[in-house]
Parts: sequence; structure tokens; C-alpha cells
Amino acid sequence: MIHTCQYCRKYYKRKDFAIKHEKYCHKNPNNKHACLVLCKYLKKEKTESEFCIHTGCYDSYPKTVFTCTKTGQEMYSYVAERMNIESRFGEDLGIRMPLECDDYENEMNIF
Ligand SMILES: [Zn+2]
Repeated sequence: MIHTCQYCRKYYKRKDFAIKHEKYCHKNPNNKHACLVLCKYLKKEKTESEFCIHTGCYDSYPKTVFTCTKTGQEMYSYVAERMNIESRFGEDLGIRMPLECDDYENEMNIF
């Protein structure tokens, strides 16, 4: 029995894998964040992990931080959800990126 992703047609032999993939498939409409389609207000930063000399371990892990420069709102994408970053580190990553946004402006419309 083959299970096929309804969004990208990728197939899996195990149904639970297919279900998990579908939820986080980049073609799933629920994962198409407006910001990621070249919005000029989207700022993407990568943080470094911090090493603590007192405990001898890493305090934090490198992560990608998205900020909307129009609203100042910190945001996370479906990728963070897939990697379970929120619950793993208990960090406040802001809001989930919108799928539709009134402030959206394409980077290409600069002329
Ligand atoms: Zn898929």
C-alpha cells in the first residue's frame, strides 16, 4: 500500500510518515506564508549558539528569526513547527507567519 502526498505527490510506504509529511509539506496551502514570497518587509536573521563557560554546555541553539520590519513583529514559519522548535526550547518565537497579509509588498515592485 502506497500513500501519496496530496500536495506534492511524494509517496510513502507508511501512512503515519505520509500524514506527518503532508502536514508540513511546503506545498500545503496552510504552509504558504505570504512573507516568504519575497515580501520586502521580511527580515531573516540567524542566531549563533551561545556557549556557557559555567555549565560547559550550550545555552541556546542556532535558530532563524524572522521579523516583519513593517510591524516589528517576530514570526516563525511552518519549518519551526516541523522541527518543534517552540516546545523544544520553550522560546517565544512570536506569531506564526500569516498566509495572507495586508502589509505584504513584493520586493520586485520597487520600480
Ligand atoms: Zn508533499
